[in-house]
Amino acid sequence: MGDTMKAKIISVGNELLMGKTVNTNLTFLSKALQSLGIEVRSAMSIRDEARDIQEALKSSKEDLIIITGGLGPTRDDITKESVCKFYNLELKLHHETQTRIKNYFAKQNREMKSTNEKQAYFPNDAIVLSNNYGTAPGAIIKVAEKTIVLLPGPPSELIPMFAFVKAYLKERTDADIYQSGYLVAGIGESEMEAEMDALYDKHPQVEIAPYADIASIQYIFTSADAKALERALDHFRKRFSEYIVGPYDKTIETRVVETLMAQNKTISFAESCTGGLLAAQIVNVPNVSEVFKESYVLYANSAKIKQLGINQMIIDKFGAVSKQCVYELAYQLAQRTDTDIVLSVSGIAGPSGGTAVKPVGTVYYGLYHEGKTKTYSKIFAGDRNLIRKKATVYGLYLVLKALLHEDNY
Ligand code: AMP
Ligand code: MG
Repeated sequence: MGDTMKAKIISVGNELLMGKTVNTNLTFLSKALQSLGIEVRSAMSIRDEARDIQEALKSSKEDLIIITGGLGPTRDDITKESVCKFYNLELKLHHETQTRIKNYFAKQNREMKSTNEKQAYFPNDAIVLSNNYGTAPGAIIKVAEKTIVLLPGPPSELIPMFAFVKAYLKERTDADIYQSGYLVAGIGESEMEAEMDALYDKHPQVEIAPYADIASIQYIFTSADAKALERALDHFRKRFSEYIVGPYDKTIETRVVETLMAQNKTISFAESCTGGLLAAQIVNVPNVSEVFKESYVLYANSAKIKQLGINQMIIDKFGAVSKQCVYELAYQLAQRTDTDIVLSVSGIAGPSGGTAVKPVGTVYYGLYHEGKTKTYSKIFAGDRNLIRKKATVYGLYLVLKALLHEDNY
């Protein structure tokens, strides 16, 4: 294996330095480059200023420089012009790109504005990257023994365009890099990390990187040694099987939906504290209508009573946030909707409403499946919204584990 390619990411945009925009392009690109075996050595965020862009290029030692933002039609978008000026590259009209931009407007029954004209200019040898989701094309430019990649700022345009860059870079890196991993849920990152030390020590040729999301963690394994990678994955799988919900590149809702599809089952929810988040998250998945029947947001006690006939006595005696209540919610909804698996959820999202016995963050779940209704409870940390989001992901985790008959947790 030769020297690994080194990269720098330059994010251009005043909005990034004013705290208006989170630099998600940086995280996306860093992750993607790492998966190609390209080492990201440095990253910087700078203003839409020609001088600052040129200063950034002057101080760049890396072989690959990815610059994002500032490719739009407006006057403050000067990234391409500044880069070309720095390397003494002449900008010429790229006819094919001009036509593409015109067509982009025509498709929406609009006429191309004169300000968009400059987006069709590129240096002679540039590879122009067409943009199917906006007007700003990107480019790959080889100059001064470096590869310069220009990408538009909006993530919805940058991400699809990067697929081409990825293929281009893959062909040119000599390192064979293998990558795989898992998505885990139902356990916190710190709890995982305490156990991960043994894995990190045992598999030095494998880089294992956790990426924690709200209530799930991606563990991405990268190595130049395919066998070492397989051994590390095996070790992880054996140790954490109960928390693994799928491969690292799938979301938990996708796993739930594909498992329901494979088993030819339907799902419904009765939601109290999540207020519709369960429905919203599962609807992220295309074709979910094949398996998702309905979700009731039964927030007030009166709604629980009116819609699902929950006995007032249960609420009086045990409270709406109780194992008895979620049991009834799941059971009654299953009866009324003829759904294969039903999840109910009721909890205290806070900030008020907690007690010594049921502190803020306490969440109960009722799960109806295969004729039985079981209940679960969990206490989540965080503010109101975080608790609700964590409660949603954990609910999906319970559903998945039940479907896979791994309900001994
Ligand atoms: P552009 O016209 O290419 O400069 O980018 C315009 C928009 O893209 C900005 O208003 C931001 O919303 C978004 N954007 C730019 N840079 C980034 C970044 N590094 N990460 C996420 N979004 C960005
Ligand atoms: Mg900009």
